[in-house]
Amino acid sequence: MTTKSHGWHPETILVHGGTTRSPFGETSEAMFLTQGFVYETAEAAEARFNGEDPGFVYSRYANPTVAMFENRIAALEGAEAARGTASGMAAVNLALMACCKAGDHVVAAKALFGSCRYIVETLLPRFGVTSTLVDGTDLDAWRAAIRPETVACFLESPTNPTLEVIDIAAVADMAHAVGARLIVDNVFATPLWQSPFELGADIVVYSATKHIDGQGRCLGGVVLGSEAFITDEVMPFMKHTGPAMSPFNAWVLLKGLETLPLRVERQTRTAARLADVLAEHPAVARLIYPGRDDHPQAELARRQMKAGSTMIALEVAGGKEAAFRFSNALKIVKMSNNLGDAKSLVTHPATTTHQSLAEEARVELGIGEGLLRLSVGLEHEDDLAADLLTALDTVRG
Ligand SMILES: *Cc1c(COP(=O)(O)O)cnc(C)c1O
Repeated sequence: MTTKSHGWHPETILVHGGTTRSPFGETSEAMFLTQGFVYETAEAAEARFNGEDPGFVYSRYANPTVAMFENRIAALEGAEAARGTASGMAAVNLALMACCKAGDHVVAAKALFGSCRYIVETLLPRFGVTSTLVDGTDLDAWRAAIRPETVACFLESPTNPTLEVIDIAAVADMAHAVGARLIVDNVFATPLWQSPFELGADIVVYSATKHIDGQGRCLGGVVLGSEAFITDEVMPFMKHTGPAMSPFNAWVLLKGLETLPLRVERQTRTAARLADVLAEHPAVARLIYPGRDDHPQAELARRQMKAGSTMIALEVAGGKEAAFRFSNALKIVKMSNNLGDAKSLVTHPATTTHQSLAEEARVELGIGEGLLRLSVGLEHEDDLAADLLTALDTVRG
């Protein structure tokens, strides 16, 4: 069933990888909206259930449309196997739960997507899995936190929302030294610009809700890893707890994968230009873009990412009041907590996505009252530049 990538380039894999066709020979991938499957004979059913016949049994376990999505993204990442999930959070939870049991220990970078941080900091400890949160950019902090009972290290790079870049290869080496696995949430970098497996990661997770859909329609996630990890550790958890991806969503996301390079390349080109334009405006106190030479980890970003990606963080002078005035003055850029969308979106993390963090935790993460996160969409770069600069002028007014 797995379509080998034949040494194809990413663009080709994303159009053809993983495709299987029904006897009708449809051009576009078929949407198999079915819960279950029927068997010709009782013997056939028995063979399906005992694994002699590898066909489909029930869509909580696997589904042909979902399998096409899984095989396509696995081919892109160079992973042996993948499992689609109902959301990005289901993928993160699945990856961590599949690795851990009571008594184990997890180390994670503290600049995590809010719900990821909840799993590591609050949920896992309820089941006897202890965790340590570290400053992800500080390799000595990782070294000090990793102990013999550490089974997993978990990080996002670039981080949300301050776009710090974490040295994936260095953390992978430290994790492997104690037999732990490195899980990388690669949402912000996208599969085009960063290949965590090549840098030593063992498990990669995505929220497919973001760039992979890219048009704000549906939720989805995916866990990628070795065949043994997916078959022996992920599948039992998946089968018995049910975070399965809907075949309808898998179909939308398959179509999203076809156009992913076109969208991400354009969004990245526009983001790079906007970062340079915004950095010059006197109302911008700080601008963070992993593709710029003034990024705090510019050298590392160049080494582990092929481009700066689609997200910009900017701190406007004047705190919350200025950030709100700027956001409210935007005409094209919409206010939303999503990202990776065709529509450019701005978020004020301190009062939305990171509102529930204690003030001191926000300060520690560099999330000031004037910080805004901008997800660059597919609109024309000149229109976006004009919209953003006009709104910044109101901040100074
Ligand atoms: C959005 C996001 C998630 C969660 O994904 P959902 O699809 O919303 O469940 C996890 N990690 C990162 C980095 C994200 O941006």
